[in-house]
This record gives sequence, C-alpha cells and structure tokens, in this order.
Amino acid sequence: MVLPTAAARSLGTETAFEVLARANRLAAEGRSIINLGIGQPDFATPGNIVQAGKRALAEGKHGYTPGAGIPELREAVARDLQRRHGAEVDPETVLITPGAKPVMFFAALLMGEPGAEILYPNPGFPIYESVIRFSGATPVPIELHEADGFTFDPDQVLSQINERTRLIILNSPANPTGGVYTREQVERLVEGLERWPDVVVLSDEIYSRILYEGRSHVSWLNYPQLRDRLIVLDGWSKTYAMTGWRLGYGVFPPDLFPFAERLAINSYSCPNAATQYAAVEALEGPQDAVDVMTAAFDERRKVIVEELNSVPGVSCVDPGGAFYAFPNISGTGIDARTLQERLLEEAGVAVIAGTSFGHLGEGYLRFSYAASLEEIVEGVDRMRALLAEG
Ligand code: PMP
Repeated sequence: MVLPTAAARSLGTETAFEVLARANRLAAEGRSIINLGIGQPDFATPGNIVQAGKRALAEGKHGYTPGAGIPELREAVARDLQRRHGAEVDPETVLITPGAKPVMFFAALLMGEPGAEILYPNPGFPIYESVIRFSGATPVPIELHEADGFTFDPDQVLSQINERTRLIILNSPANPTGGVYTREQVERLVEGLERWPDVVVLSDEIYSRILYEGRSHVSWLNYPQLRDRLIVLDGWSKTYAMTGWRLGYGVFPPDLFPFAERLAINSYSCPNAATQYAAVEALEGPQDAVDVMTAAFDERRKVIVEELNSVPGVSCVDPGGAFYAFPNISGTGIDARTLQERLLEEAGVAVIAGTSFGHLGEGYLRFSYAASLEEIVEGVDRMRALLAEG
C-alpha cells in the first residue's frame, strides 16, 4: 500500500461535491431529488457571455495564454474594481485563475508553514482550513456565532493575533452563513492591524455582488494602508452563473504577485483561453442579468427563511448576502450530519451539514437557495414531513 505525505493526508474536502455526486446518482436511479446542496446559481450563463466564448473558439483562441491571464482581462478586472469599489488596482497585480479557489490555495502556500498561524472563519468555507493544514501552518478559528449575525468581533480577532500569525482569512458575504460584515467592523480591524505590519489579509469577496436589502459591499481594497499585504479573491462563478467555466482572480500585493504567478505556472500553466475572452464580455458587457439573478435570489431568500421558520424545531436568521440559508436545527434533537444523511436518503433532499464548515457548524444545515421557488418549497416540505415522522 502506498501512502502520500502527511501533508497530503491532512487535506480536507468540500462535502458539497460528495453530496452532489450522491444526489446525481440517486436521481439517475429514478429517485426524485431536490438539490439544495451545491452552491451554484441555477441560471444559465447570460447569452452575450456564451457568444463571446464561442467567438473566441471560432477565432482560433486555442493556445496557451500568459500564466497570469490575457492583458485585456487583467485590465478589465482593474476597471471593474474601480467602477464597483472606487479602488485603484494595477492590472499587473491581478492573477487570473481557473476558478477562484486557487487563490486561497496560493495564499495558504505563500504564507503558511510549520510554526505559522493562520486565522480563518468557523463556520466557514471548508477549503480554508484544509489548505492551511496542507501548508503546515496551524489553523486558528475565528468563531462566528448566530447571535452576532455570523460576523466576526474585530477585537476578538485582534486578540487572536500574535507574532506567529501570518495570514487572516475573511469572507463576506459568507458561505455558508450568508453573514455580511459592516464597515465599522472592517475599519476597527484595519486600525488594529496597524500594530501587526507583517500579517497578510485574504479577503474572499466572491459573493460581493449578491447582497440584499440595500446593503453595499465593503471591499478591503478600500483601505490603501493595507494594500501592500492584501489579497482579494473574486471571480465570475457566482456573479455571472459561470461555475463550470472555471475562472476567478486574485489581486495580490506587488511583493507576493511573482510568487503567486509561479505557483500558477507550476500547477496549471494558465487559465482556459476561450473562457478568458468570455470573462472580458462579462465585465464589460451589459450587467442587467446580474441584477435579475440577484432579485430572484432575494425573492427565494424570503421564501426559504419563512418556510424554514415554520418547521418545528428549526429557526433561521435572515442571510444578508450570498445564496445560503443556515438554519439552526438544534431544536430537532438530531445532529447535523445525521439530518443531512436522512434528508438525502429518506426524503431525497440534498443539503449540507453545518459541521462540513467547521465544528461550530454543529446544530446547523446549509441550504443553497439558488434553486427554483417550487424546489425550495418542496424541499422544506419534505424536511417537515421527515421530522414529523420522528
Ligand atoms: N470562496 C467561496 C466562499 C466560495 O463559496 C466558493 C465556491 N463555492 C469559492 C470561493 C470558489 O469559487 P470558484 O468556483 O470560482 O472556484
């Protein structure tokens, strides 16, 4: 029997992919499955973007591109960040990646090593803890609690920093909770970080355009005093319903950029060529499809929160952004993993146990409401029926 290194064996995973595979298998066997598991828009990519991708293929854009991405796209990203956040970004610091996920992997590899500590949200996107462990660094959870709207307490975070801390990972709007942090929280943290000039921040802003009730996004790019140690992750997957095209980006500090680019060239050479041309169109073309999708998510958000709150033993706070509801199921007396399993196997509803996002996710389930209203209502009805059976 061959075994990989201890580092490889320490890698975690994203349960959503495992549940997706099982849900697809059950559906192929003829079972009726409602998929509220995987986090991806149920919309098709807007037509103008698809056309741009097809055009690129027809025009012969079939070869490698520069490792960091085509200049047109890196420039389009800088313009988009200027328009959306009023931030000046040098296109030379934008690394285009196949999906946004490599940005978090690279951040962990660039800053993590044995003896280093990296702070990350818990419950939070599971890949953060996984890649921190892989790097050899010690993961230090930033605890997020329902009572605080699942957002961090800046003074608590500052008290967790010490001379071993190399990186702090934050995510707003957040997966899996829908939590959104405020400008005041960010500013308090930015101010406190002045005492720790060697600590890098990775701000995961992949859901920055999916916000509700007039909330506006607080981008870390707005704090020039941090720019020499800030990595911002964003991309196309969620905003433009492009999860399968695999494209994202990171804005890196100039000092770190060359190393991130090397990690890219060492692992995948460059992102997909045609996808990059489609992505230019996504950023520079009409944006109405984004508003239409966000309005649909908002309508579904209201429905799912109301439905979940009507189930005995379940309560759900309003998510401020992203497309996840994170109901508290502790009143059902069933642990998160068992309920996830029973919902899939007995009721044909795919959702994700809160514990897949860290130990503080016990007592919660994640429902992705990037699904039709009918599926949402039916999914929660099936849960109600399952719980009523006991
Ligand atoms: N960050 C968060 C918080 C996410 O939820 C996801 C996708 N589920 C990503 C990053 C990665 O997105 P991509 O599909 O572009 O790699």
